[in-house]
Amino acid sequence: MKVIRSLSEILCQESAVKLLRLALEKGILSHSYIFCGPEGVGKETTARALIYHLFCHFSKDEPCGSCLACKKLDKAIHPDVKILEPEKRDIRIESVREIENFLRYRPLEAPYRVILILQAEKLNPQAGNALLKSLEEPPLYALFILITERIDQLLPTIVSRSQVVRFRPLRREIIKNYLVGIRQYDEGLAETLSSLSMGSLGKALAIAESGLLEDLNSLIQASASKKRALKFKVAEKLARRPKEELELLLNLLGLWIWKSYVSKRVNLPHFFEGLTDCAFEGNPHQAVGFLGKARQALNYFVNPELLLYNIINYLETSSPNLPANSQIK
Ligand SMILES: [Zn+2]
Repeated sequence: MKVIRSLSEILCQESAVKLLRLALEKGILSHSYIFCGPEGVGKETTARALIYHLFCHFSKDEPCGSCLACKKLDKAIHPDVKILEPEKRDIRIESVREIENFLRYRPLEAPYRVILILQAEKLNPQAGNALLKSLEEPPLYALFILITERIDQLLPTIVSRSQVVRFRPLRREIIKNYLVGIRQYDEGLAETLSSLSMGSLGKALAIAESGLLEDLNSLIQASASKKRALKFKVAEKLARRPKEELELLLNLLGLWIWKSYVSKRVNLPHFFEGLTDCAFEGNPHQAVGFLGKARQALNYFVNPELLLYNIINYLETSSPNLPANSQIK
């Protein structure tokens, strides 16, 4: 996988990149940034690129990729970068204490000591308060970059001490072109993935790489089948996926339902290439409402196998015309 080191390689986030380039050029970086926006649109990639720009020994405009600093960043062994991310459910105060230690010393090799906090909304209240202290009187060489999809879940006092940089969903063509041009996916599949991605390249890649499209196919196929054993088997297999992937699977199912509904009214080009030909015939509002409840249930530790089995049955009864022998591409 190609390493992205330069801000000029960031897709489709012109205003964020412009703002950062200007700060680099003028040498007036904020001591704390919050990069916020949907998942998979380049927030972390941009943060990492910014560090290359700051640390590269040869060029602040275009990181060279070959100096010692760039190489250490490539290998994630640069001593002046610290990355914090949730362990299991949250980021705890112990991790924030490590930042305090880290900031006690001047940078060893770079002009800054950078603290990159991933999923910053997962800072628990004690950790958030401790971080606030570090943000109140940071040493001049400290640079915080907080990455989050949910800025509303950060302490307002953290937000007010930081410069907020907003990232937006990517345009569909951008995602499609990337999938075709860089990842060499075939055109039809790239079209499907980009329309399922809701503007998130990360999501498009996750769907492609995790085999979720195949699983969505088998779920739809199972609901069209009269065989109970097949329904159980599919529910059991899919239930082994981690919760985040199951949520994504339910989202995809919801999109399939809406697209089934819309495609009856307008002619959608490349409608779900790589997906089953059959369409959902029932009431899409009710079905999507049902899926919303199913998603909530996942968070309450409902047995996922049972939940998937119920979904399969729901699809069968609410869309009785799903052809039993529907062709799975
Ligand atoms: Zn370099």
